[in-house]
Amino acid sequence: MTVALVLTACSAPESPPAPPVTKQPATKQQPATKRPQAATAAPGRVDLSAYDAGRSRPVADPLYPAYGDPSIDVLHYDLALAWKPGARTLSGTATLTLRAARPISRVRLDFGRALKVDAVKVNDVTIEATRKGDDLTVPLPEALEADEGAVVTVCYHGRPKPVDAGQRREDISMLGFHVGEGGRAWALQEPFGAFTWFPVNDHPSDEALYDVAITVPEGWSGVAHGTYEGKTSAGRTSTFRWRSTDPVASYLTVFAADRFRMYRDEGPRGIPVTYWIRPGDVPRQLPVARRMPSIMRWLERKLGPYPFPSAGLVATSDSGMETQQMIALGPLYMRPSVVAHELAHHWFGDTVTPRTWRDLWLNEGFAMYLEMQWYAEHEDGTIDDFIANIRRVDGRLRQEAGPPGRYRRDSFGISNVYYGPAIMLHEIRKRLGDRKFFAMLRAWVQEHRNTTQDRASFTKWIKEHTGRDFTELIDTWLDSPTTPR
Ligand SMILES: [Zn+2]
Repeated sequence: MTVALVLTACSAPESPPAPPVTKQPATKQQPATKRPQAATAAPGRVDLSAYDAGRSRPVADPLYPAYGDPSIDVLHYDLALAWKPGARTLSGTATLTLRAARPISRVRLDFGRALKVDAVKVNDVTIEATRKGDDLTVPLPEALEADEGAVVTVCYHGRPKPVDAGQRREDISMLGFHVGEGGRAWALQEPFGAFTWFPVNDHPSDEALYDVAITVPEGWSGVAHGTYEGKTSAGRTSTFRWRSTDPVASYLTVFAADRFRMYRDEGPRGIPVTYWIRPGDVPRQLPVARRMPSIMRWLERKLGPYPFPSAGLVATSDSGMETQQMIALGPLYMRPSVVAHELAHHWFGDTVTPRTWRDLWLNEGFAMYLEMQWYAEHEDGTIDDFIANIRRVDGRLRQEAGPPGRYRRDSFGISNVYYGPAIMLHEIRKRLGDRKFFAMLRAWVQEHRNTTQDRASFTKWIKEHTGRDFTELIDTWLDSPTTPR
């Protein structure tokens, strides 16, 4: 028997009718792709094989342990969302196909307290869930052994609110769902905060596949991570569909609803690219967006093939974020060097993801180093100048925010995790020479696509790959309270 996934209707009057998923005719541009569905054979026995690519080995976070639960591994999220800009309400049906990572009798998800739960089902059986703060606990009708699966459906609605990240960095003080002028909305979140708009195991060690449908009023667009699969219109609303066939960490998801115009482009090797920009911003922002294909080609020459089947840029109202297959840039960040930085993350962060937030340097050190490289080759300065400049501030940053591999938990994303690790990479490059260094970067990514990694695995791998032991150099650069000589 097949579980009716998003067709499991919500009963709340505020909820929109679930958009037609299985009966919708395929749009012209898109071949009809079969949506895999988890099948239930008996209660507690769910065939997970359709979502094998979404399997992870979740762990608890050493810095932000309140988010994520290592006892579950979500393989797939099916999110049917509707945004009403006038009322500023979000309603959704989230269908999570998950695996027990160890024996469990309940599923704990991160879910924002601002949103009201209308109904919860497990394998199509209605369940009474409990809320506490930003936790949603769903008791299972039958306990699961490790590796057994369940399909959890949560119907909800409300006015989403961002979460206070407890951070010193101003542009990430509030994370998750934001609403702006006229009801335009966007959600970006690192290190956590996806739970402000859907129920989620909000930790990078639990990556999952996604199907997202966003219903908005006519004339609006709904943008998410993944590949754009087209839109359908019904009455006075349009539904935009997005699919991720490569696993996504929750911090790399994105939601944006606005009066965007969509532009198509073509990346290297025919990769489809879309840009989503508000009409008034087009003259200034579209020319920057149009640089993406050439920046992708430049990155491919350094790092090997772009690791996803599509790319895009959504011009949100703030921040710059490497959201997967759809980078999000606010007006202050709309610059080619930032596009290069966020796209570099698709190799360092998106396809090879840090297992916990302790190793944020695995993202930012590499992206910073590639950004400097891009700047030196296309704008001004030399790599050696940049390294000399950031060396001058590295000591102060270590003092204020902690060493890059041991930063303070209230200092997430401070420049210390960008600069010190970029200098460390430059030191490794000087020892290996250009040819071996870039071959090493390419091999690291291509051998670890769609995995999560940490310092130990990087240090071990680089020793095996290069035949040189950089353990001491890496540990010193990541842990020293002062700038290494
Ligand atoms: Zn970055």
